[in-house]
Amino acid sequence: MDARLEAIRDTVLARNPGEGEFHQAVTEVFESLGPVHDRHPEFLEGAVLERLCEPERQIIFRVPWVDDAGTFQINRGFRVEFSSALGPFKGGLRFHPSVNLGIVKFLGFEQIFKNALTGMPIGGGKGGSDFDPRGRSDAEIMRFCQSFMTELYRHIGEYTDVPAGDIGVGGREIGYLFGQYKRITNRYESGVLTGKGISWGGSLVRPEATGYGTVIFTEEMLKTRGQSFDGQRVVVSGSGNVAINAIAKAQSLGATVVACSDSSGYVVDEAGIDVELLRQIKEVERGRLKDYEARRSAVSYVEGGSVWDIDATVALPCATQNELDGDAAARLVRNGLLAVGEGANMPSTPEAVAVFQEARILFGPGKAANAGGVATSALEMQQNASRDSWTFAHTEERLTEIMIGIHDRCAATADEYGDPGNYVLGANIGGFVKVADAMLAQGLI
Ligand code: NDP
Repeated sequence: MDARLEAIRDTVLARNPGEGEFHQAVTEVFESLGPVHDRHPEFLEGAVLERLCEPERQIIFRVPWVDDAGTFQINRGFRVEFSSALGPFKGGLRFHPSVNLGIVKFLGFEQIFKNALTGMPIGGGKGGSDFDPRGRSDAEIMRFCQSFMTELYRHIGEYTDVPAGDIGVGGREIGYLFGQYKRITNRYESGVLTGKGISWGGSLVRPEATGYGTVIFTEEMLKTRGQSFDGQRVVVSGSGNVAINAIAKAQSLGATVVACSDSSGYVVDEAGIDVELLRQIKEVERGRLKDYEARRSAVSYVEGGSVWDIDATVALPCATQNELDGDAAARLVRNGLLAVGEGANMPSTPEAVAVFQEARILFGPGKAANAGGVATSALEMQQNASRDSWTFAHTEERLTEIMIGIHDRCAATADEYGDPGNYVLGANIGGFVKVADAMLAQGLI
């Protein structure tokens, strides 16, 4: 890392002790930015990095609620409003027991650059809670969401901060959150949340967008080597929103997705994952992946194993951060891996990324490859602002254009900085320069 940036990075780490994922995300971005600061000394003079690493606002709050047994429960809520240089803070809410300030800050920090890469007018933020939705009844989810919004509502708004979904937060949760916001504020402010239901202000394609976008980005990377998804053997981790839609899109392009996972294990289905069955089990029944095995022939379920033990030519990690380590990366590379498209945020450890880059594997980092979700959220905001709703075909066409644009911008930036094919460098520099220019133009704020 450039010595000037290393000194700033060390100060950031010392000021934010115990936030391992945030440290990892900051380090990863700083490692790309040395050459930019050679060309743009004004970024150092303007303390752009120091400012970017300090969120504009961090909100931590108590979320009290009552479970079905009548027991009082207390969770912790977070919203980290990182950067509004390009537009209102924008980023999802994650409900998962692992959520803490460091995880929300890593996600919010990455979101700044991701949102910049989309070319849309959106800043970066992220939030969530250590609430565990698994095994909770519908009524419990509703009471939790209502309590969460009873505090959050005062910090958000269509021109201020626009949350969406992430792990553990899908259409059902966005519905309960929106209902409570509307009740408290007495305003039908569609643009305050994205990922809404289609009949009440949501956008077609938003549920599919992150998974579809990841596959579109990866297809563009494959094209640079004269390849495509057609005929590829694909492994996807996760079986949530991003994973299911990535599987559907990859198979529609002629790939065979042979395995996917949840936090308990993985299934191998050499004939190709049956997406409709997977949707039925995970989205309709809210069941576990294990149930897939009993309902389809010639499928094996491996309890507790790593899905990265299965060979693939294309890997799409779509579950969570740091799920694919250096050993798994080396094994995949030895066994014929061509490309990795990160549907999740920071799913590959730094060691895994180093293995992929050393082997010149096509590697699409999450902040570029999974930007289709937030880009389509911005399209939802556009539709809300104009009180319009677009067709599936039109919205999908916009998503495709945006993903191809992000791919091309990352590739062109990597070329410009002398490291063709390095999408990590391209994404970090491409996103950063846009935000840095806006920050300097807006003065010291
Ligand atoms: P979902 O909650 O819909 O699905 C998450 C999936 O990942 C589930 O299969 C879950 O398994 C698995 N998973 C979660 N945590 C772990 C863990 N600690 N270990 C192993 N598996 C785990 O979330 P999404 O699909 O929305 O999000 C997946 C990833 O994509 C996240 O990194 C998110 O930040 C990122 N992302 C999501 C976007 C979106 O639009 N939704 C946009 C951009 C990025 P189980 O059910 O067993 O918990």
